[in-house]
Amino acid sequence: MHFPVPGSILEAITRLNDSGHEAYLVGGCVRDDYLGIPPHDYDICTSAYPEEIKACFQDENTIDTGIRHGTVTVVLEDYPIEITTYRADGPYSDGRRPDHVSFTHNLAEDLKRRDFTMNAMAWHPSVGIVDLFGGREDCNNHLIRCVGQARHRFNEDALRILRALRFASTLGFSIEESAADAMEERKASMKKVSVERITVELNKLMLGMNPAEVFRQYPRILFEVLPSLEPMYHCPQRSIFHCYDVWEHSLHALEDTPAELSIRWAALFHDSGKPAAITYDPDGTTHFRGHQSISTRIVEETLTKLRQPNAMIKEVTVLVKYHDERIGPDNLQQWLSKLGHPLFIKLMALQRADLGAHAPDVAAKVGNIDDLVVRANEMARSDACLSLRDLAVDGRLLVESGFGSGPFLGETLQYLLQRVINGFEPNDQQTLLSIAMKRLEEYNQRQNIQ
Ligand code: ATP
Ligand code: MG
Repeated sequence: MHFPVPGSILEAITRLNDSGHEAYLVGGCVRDDYLGIPPHDYDICTSAYPEEIKACFQDENTIDTGIRHGTVTVVLEDYPIEITTYRADGPYSDGRRPDHVSFTHNLAEDLKRRDFTMNAMAWHPSVGIVDLFGGREDCNNHLIRCVGQARHRFNEDALRILRALRFASTLGFSIEESAADAMEERKASMKKVSVERITVELNKLMLGMNPAEVFRQYPRILFEVLPSLEPMYHCPQRSIFHCYDVWEHSLHALEDTPAELSIRWAALFHDSGKPAAITYDPDGTTHFRGHQSISTRIVEETLTKLRQPNAMIKEVTVLVKYHDERIGPDNLQQWLSKLGHPLFIKLMALQRADLGAHAPDVAAKVGNIDDLVVRANEMARSDACLSLRDLAVDGRLLVESGFGSGPFLGETLQYLLQRVINGFEPNDQQTLLSIAMKRLEEYNQRQNIQ
């Protein structure tokens, strides 16, 4: 292994071995380590049956994580380790999960049921890598290949279709031809997979090194789980500002985003309302007036159906809604105030990616956005007034000066904030207090007249 295996993992393997059982590291950790990626967790598989696993760790805390499927979690040195009995999956009749699983003493049986050759390797400290299906060679060639016959494996479990796309994105690998063909053929069966599992895979795919390329190569498969994207495919975009159709433009924008989930989802969907908004001039020039609000609705509906977290949906919705807003030095402070600095920076990342995916003359303007981000960062560091928190007067001071605690207090604070943000007044306590008092006086007069 490239990376040092944690002591508690080696200890768990040794304990199982000392009791006469086989035990290997398996799956994602062996793959990642072989590829030079630090593993994020370590799974152990063993010839020991669940009760035997527990007997090896009787002095330790063990949790029956998935005892029916053979998984016991052992906590060694405060480190939870999943240990799973070698399994052979029974037949799959529902396209989602095996009808039953059976335990086995045979490592090869356990590796055979795994999805891809790169995920079907095991490792033991004194044996080294066990690679029965050419996983290392496929890793060397950057290939995702099924263990066994592709069509059969995707038939068994449709989630594997999305896992293949996810790994293609995260590892930048290609999908072996017969696997890709079988995925296309079986794509409709992804409907049987639970929405939660689909969303986990899609989010991993979106955060990969290459999500746009996966959408470019396998649009039809992805439309199956993201049908609201389909109208963008081949939707024309004829104007001096654009050199790609809506779909290609969106993928180019996606390519240029940092690996942040909300920015990436926003980039993919920012123009999803264009197909519904399209109009043509007599010469064929396209316009998409009002597409921003349609895109906003589409992305909100889509992410809600996927049961994404509410905070993420809200953020993506704001980004899509404002993706076309013209923001410059003159209104920078208002936008910073409206969105707050972190979300504003994300909006700039989206606008930059969007701009860069236009025709070269337009794309050349991305430097303006970079300048704006520098200014926004300076403003956030300085004591520029961007929110009520920064204002030189607060509600308490106004109440002490004679304001009641009703809505007029809040209105006055907002009024003062807008005056300061727009540069009409300095953020100075005396100045703002005297404006507030004048407003209060006028307010009281109006009340008396009524
Ligand atoms: P990562 O944890 O980095 O997301 P992983 O490959 O470890 O990737 P897990 O979901 O943790 O993915 O699964 C662990 C292992 O279990 C996989 O490496 C694979 O061997 C096997 N596996 C997971 N899901 C499936 C599946 N749907 N069909 C067949 N084997 C699977
Ligand atoms: Mg894993």
